[in-house]
Amino acid sequence: TRTLVLDRVMKKFPTGTVALTDVSLTIAPGELVTVVGPSGCGKSTLLRLASGLEQVSDGSIEVSAASTSYVFQDATLLEWRSAARNVELVGELRGVPREERRQRAQEVLDLVGLRGFEQQHPRQLSGGMRMRVSLARALVAEPELALFDEPFGALDEITRLQMQTELQKIFRLKRFAGLFITHSVSEAVYLSTRVLVMSGRPGRIVAEIAVPWEYPRP
Ligand code: ADP
Ligand code: ADP
Repeated sequence: TRTLVLDRVMKKFPTGTVALTDVSLTIAPGELVTVVGPSGCGKSTLLRLASGLEQVSDGSIEVSAASTSYVFQDATLLEWRSAARNVELVGELRGVPREERRQRAQEVLDLVGLRGFEQQHPRQLSGGMRMRVSLARALVAEPELALFDEPFGALDEITRLQMQTELQKIFRLKRFAGLFITHSVSEAVYLSTRVLVMSGRPGRIVAEIAVPWEYPRP
């Protein structure tokens, strides 16, 4: 079984820009794949296609995940809601009973290291903590597929390294399928054992790197 399959995907925007061409990839359940490439090579477009936000112009995409969640660079949190209520929102939209919603939000906030900060509002939190809330919100629905659009790109370097370690830990526990895009080679190599390198305009996958699992990790 495959959670995500792209077969010779091409994307041409109405402006005439061809953002991607001949992109094929597969992601198995529980596998985290990173895509690295310079800006403008079509990484965000690739994620938007995988999420269904955009339609392919040619080729095909097959998603066999019951649920997908999307994590962006700027943690788009609701400023008037506490961290816990931001995470609970997902359950509210799905009609999950209040107690269950609260309990699940508490569990994932613990998992991302935010115990004690549940009642804080986004503006009271640091950039790294806001990103943690964003991750918690993405994970609370137990997605089978998670799409990450350069989520740590705006963080300072130390926080970013912490978040990379954190995401690895969460990933080992939760085992969702993930597609993580970044322009940082070190981040891609650190996070995943399978790195796809994109480049060009239009962007295409020019190399696939298997990172040995023995790769030393802190
Ligand atoms: P990356 O995420 O790697 O920086 P993008 O996927 O954002 O690259 O963009 C790839 C190319 O597609 C760029 O040339 C960009 O200008 C173009 N592009 C992205 N979105 C649109 C859009 N909605 N309409 C027209 N062109 C777009
Ligand atoms: P960018 O490519 O966006 O400029 P990098 O990912 O190279 O940023 O990160 C900047 C610094 O952090 C580099 O010195 C890099 O070696 C280091 N770094 C990044 N990720 C890790 C990691 N997971 N473990 C150790 N060092 C890292």
